[in-house]
Amino acid sequence: VSGPRTATEPGAIAAAANAWYAAHGRDFLWRRPGMSAWGILLIEVMAQQTQIQRAAGTALVWLERWPSPAALAAAPVAEVIKAWGRLGYPRRAVALHAAATAIAERHGDVVPADPAALTALPGIGPYTAHAVASFAYGVRVPVVDTNVRRVLHRALLGVDTLAPATRRDQELMASILPASAEETRITNVAVMELGALLCTPRSPDCEACPIRDACAWRAAGYPAAEGPRRAGQPRFEGSDRQLRGRIMALLREADVPVPRTAFDGLDPDPARLDRVLAGLAADRLAETAPGGWALP
Ligand code: SF4
Repeated sequence: VSGPRTATEPGAIAAAANAWYAAHGRDFLWRRPGMSAWGILLIEVMAQQTQIQRAAGTALVWLERWPSPAALAAAPVAEVIKAWGRLGYPRRAVALHAAATAIAERHGDVVPADPAALTALPGIGPYTAHAVASFAYGVRVPVVDTNVRRVLHRALLGVDTLAPATRRDQELMASILPASAEETRITNVAVMELGALLCTPRSPDCEACPIRDACAWRAAGYPAAEGPRRAGQPRFEGSDRQLRGRIMALLREADVPVPRTAFDGLDPDPARLDRVLAGLAADRLAETAPGGWALP
């Protein structure tokens, strides 16, 4: 595959990425035409901090069970948290329920296409708003996730890789988007896939990369990061997040309120247990009930 000649040819970068994607992109069910905007919204929210195949599997189960925002909005929050299962960061389940309620009440049960209206929904950030607008409706907006950001910073800025900055990163992506909305939708997916499959964090496969001739980082000899790097993932073992997960697992499995003493075996520090429980209550993931704690 031969890439574009210079990084000053943004149209050529998109064209090369799109051609590569047509030949090498993975054929995900949720990227095929016909997936509803509601389905795409579910998958995008679930995939944010969860491996994509797992997220998509759960999203498809949810779509069967709650085929519209109104159907999800009508379900008790406790059921939604249970159905979230072990996807992690269950605040996203509560936020999805709130977003579904807002879509049902304010948008006639139709997921909006306007990025601003999407961003105004509870728990929907710039990434998800643009992903839904572009992938579901073909709106010409830049979609920037971690993979896209890495490709853009390397190829266009010649660095590996700066801390996220939403506006700057969206403008970078916008600078290479083709004029047509349909081509834009493909470019958004193609660059994301390029980052996932070739331009990986540790061992980018530049020889196979369709934009290698335009890549500023490659041309500069792969200099180390110049700006603030992203902080690494915090340690999970022994973390509050792990303790939250264990408490939520007990609550999901219980049919009656769980007595406070039942959590004692999870951590030797009662003050820490109380703090984590208070955090779950503040996030509306758990609440006190007669006899102990329960899902809301
Ligand atoms: S040439 Fe290498 S570093 Fe540059 S975008 Fe392609 S895979 Fe990433």
